[in-house]
Amino acid sequence: MPGDTFSATGPEMRFAGGIMTIDLAALKENYGALARVCAPAQTAGIAKADAYGLGIAQVVPALASAGCGKFFVALPDEGFAVRQAAPEADIYVLNGLFSAESAAGYPEARLIPVLNSQAEIQIWESFCGASGTRHPCAINVDTGMNRLGLTASEALTFADENSLTRALEPIMVMSHLACADDLKHPMNRLQLESFQQVVAAFGDIEASLVNSAGVLLGADFRFDLTRPGVAIYGGSPLPGVKNPMRTVVTAEARISQIRYARAGETVSYGATTTLGRDTIIAVAAAGYADGYHRAASATGVPLRALDIAAGHGIVAGRNLPILGRVTMDLTMFDVTDLGVGGVNRGEFIELFGPNIPIDVAAKAAGTISYELLTSLGRRFHRRYVGLES
Ligand SMILES: *Cc1c(COP(=O)(O)O)cnc(C)c1O
Repeated sequence: MPGDTFSATGPEMRFAGGIMTIDLAALKENYGALARVCAPAQTAGIAKADAYGLGIAQVVPALASAGCGKFFVALPDEGFAVRQAAPEADIYVLNGLFSAESAAGYPEARLIPVLNSQAEIQIWESFCGASGTRHPCAINVDTGMNRLGLTASEALTFADENSLTRALEPIMVMSHLACADDLKHPMNRLQLESFQQVVAAFGDIEASLVNSAGVLLGADFRFDLTRPGVAIYGGSPLPGVKNPMRTVVTAEARISQIRYARAGETVSYGATTTLGRDTIIAVAAAGYADGYHRAASATGVPLRALDIAAGHGIVAGRNLPILGRVTMDLTMFDVTDLGVGGVNRGEFIELFGPNIPIDVAAKAAGTISYELLTSLGRRFHRRYVGLES
């Protein structure tokens, strides 16, 4: 990986089984590219789950320096961390208000709750009434997920009533698409139409509908504010097409041992893989406790569709298949094709990064880039590069 280390977290490199390199320049470029596509709509940054596992403390200042002034998180604690990293930003908390006791914590950190139900609206109304201040809030409308949010008709009623009572001061109304990553899906247009009605009833406040994939549905869908997450972090916004985003994360595992095994021997727990040839095995110091999912195992873990290939690593441009099961702390790779001395103890094998797209590594584990990113463990040495220039 090019670039000097800008900062590092986790164990020191010499003590770490794996290294994660997070390219903040690529992150900023991805944000900038999305912001240009979305303009004149504004582009927020989604920083939930510790910025998709990459670190709020490093990612949020980088996005802020690229012009991102609005962030969404799932939980208040994540909001507090974003507030530390971006003192000026608007921060929306998607999961809303869990209880009346939590309400006072939001204005203290200038967090804006996204109110998802009548119950949450009531909590915020009582809190604002008692404190004599109409603290800002956002309203979430469920137009087809059946996840969180007022129904469209509840939202229309609320907009009418609140325009009379002015009990609350909503500054944004939002919804979320269920099928944005399938551009032709009929749900997209139905949700758009339902949301347009709600937006009209709310009058002159910000409206926000789309995530990364939804940005590509066209200008109608972008309203005032877009909410891309995974695309900023280098994941493909759409499955099955060439990923236009730059790679942000590289994960590499240290090779702890090279071993020579004979045809007919077996590898790893359950002895589910029998070697068909004399094999050189690289034992790499990362496993499922690091977020390298067990479902990426070669055989014997029926957790992904059988027609999807198991995971692989890369050294020197060569694809190196996983042998047997991924274990908690270690994974075995077949390095026979590199020849004796082709790779040595102490070198690193790429798990995903510039040569293995994160979406490919995720698919090999029967999952998606989002889950791979957010399950990356705390044992990696994490180095942040790309901000030195
Ligand atoms: C996570 C999330 C996003 C971002 O989604 P991506 O697919 O990562 O772009 C946007 N909006 C809401 C409500 C979300 O929960």
